[in-house]
Amino acid sequence: MIKTLSTLQSAKYYVKQAIQEQNHPIVVDATLGNGYDTLFLAQEVGTQGKVFGFDIQSLAIETTSQRLQQEGLLERVVLFHAGHEHWEAFIPHEYKSKINAVMFNLGYLPHSDETIITRPETTIQAMGHACQWLAPRGIITIALYVGHEEGQAEVDHVTSFASQLPAKQFQVTWTQMLNRTSAPSLIVIEKIK
Ligand code: SAM
Repeated sequence: MIKTLSTLQSAKYYVKQAIQEQNHPIVVDATLGNGYDTLFLAQEVGTQGKVFGFDIQSLAIETTSQRLQQEGLLERVVLFHAGHEHWEAFIPHEYKSKINAVMFNLGYLPHSDETIITRPETTIQAMGHACQWLAPRGIITIALYVGHEEGQAEVDHVTSFASQLPAKQFQVTWTQMLNRTSAPSLIVIEKIK
């Protein structure tokens, strides 16, 4: 039976593809939020893998740690209470060119302060670091929302940045649900060499 995937299911599908044959998968959750994506990543990387995660809100760090603790997966994860744009100061440099997957889920923390949102300039800085640190065949997924004040500006900046990545090095797709405008769209960036 053919089954279509929602934006967030598609993101997870691509991440799974990118890490499934890795002995020591290294992945990054660039926006921890409530920790659902981090939990998914921690489950997928297995006992030999590692997840690094960023968020600027202490609430996101606490919620994510509790979620991982409950599942017994906290030791696979290193959480940074910092903006993802400071990537280079936090992720050990031994992992340069070894990151297999990076997930961005942009916007604000659901059920929290809706004025604390990802910003186009810092998102693009982090995307630049992610592109540089990605392993060959590594994947970056970016879920983009237009439903908040700066949402459309962020979509414009992020799609502009992604569309200028060199085609010989990166394959970039952008998918959108046409009949659910509140659903996020998804950019997937694959490093082809
Ligand atoms: N992935 C999350 C989950 O599974 O629940 C949802 C993420 S939520 C839509 C976006 C998060 O990005 C918020 O928690 C917000 O605090 C965080 N954020 C905003 N600016 C950031 C930045 N510069 N670096 C890292 N996180 C940031």
